[in-house]
Amino acid sequence: MFRLVKNGNLCYYTIDAFENTGLVKHCFTTKHGGVSEGCYESLNLRMNCDDSEENIHENYRIICNELGIDVNSLVLSKQVHKTDIAGVTSADKGNGFVFENKFESADALVTNEKNVPLVTFFADCVPVFLLDTKKEVLALVHSGWRGTANGISALTVQHMIEHYGSTAEDIIAAIGPSIRKCHFEVGDEVAAEFDERFVDRAKEKPYVDLQGCIIEQLIGCGVKRENITDSGICTCCRCDEFYSHRTTGNERGTMAAIAMLV
Ligand SMILES: [Zn+2]
Repeated sequence: MFRLVKNGNLCYYTIDAFENTGLVKHCFTTKHGGVSEGCYESLNLRMNCDDSEENIHENYRIICNELGIDVNSLVLSKQVHKTDIAGVTSADKGNGFVFENKFESADALVTNEKNVPLVTFFADCVPVFLLDTKKEVLALVHSGWRGTANGISALTVQHMIEHYGSTAEDIIAAIGPSIRKCHFEVGDEVAAEFDERFVDRAKEKPYVDLQGCIIEQLIGCGVKRENITDSGICTCCRCDEFYSHRTTGNERGTMAAIAMLV
């Protein structure tokens, strides 16, 4: 399950199945516990927006201090709703945070090195955490509807198998807070990208089940169903706790998934 952790004003989620391995430090953040104001209130981790850089960096320091992660080692990327996967090493520490970003198109980050913290961003799109507990390979995936339709989570599992020697049966997966079928109303052209099993046509407009689609794709490439944790949390239903693009449009901050092998 996804467990809400509170320390003063700071609130974030951890995943029991990941915590129990002892192999990672990780979290999925909420809106709460940072210093940003206005539409970014308060733990905004969105780079390159109208929020002050000072506040954004302070927010990163707050969550990194809590997790015991060196903030200057964070590895960020530019997420562009494609399926490019970046292999990350210790040489990339600070990418997109301390140093200029060199991952211009990477919606999935993978590493097998310890103390290399990966960061991906969300405000309704689906965060997918992957961990091969035997080979100790970690991945974070940003899966919006395009990435989901194009199978980015399964492609990342295949990448772990091909490039890091992973076995699908050894991979645990977790699907974080994101927009769910209750709120993900789409047009016919988006619905057409998905198998009908994941499209609810009971209402006037179609509604898509991104999480169900991702679970199906993970199982399809060999991940065991019992090794997949679904948070069950909709960021739109819970816009008190999460930034939600569908709720507020672009005037908002973002949450982050942060994870590091230890
Ligand atoms: Zn909802």
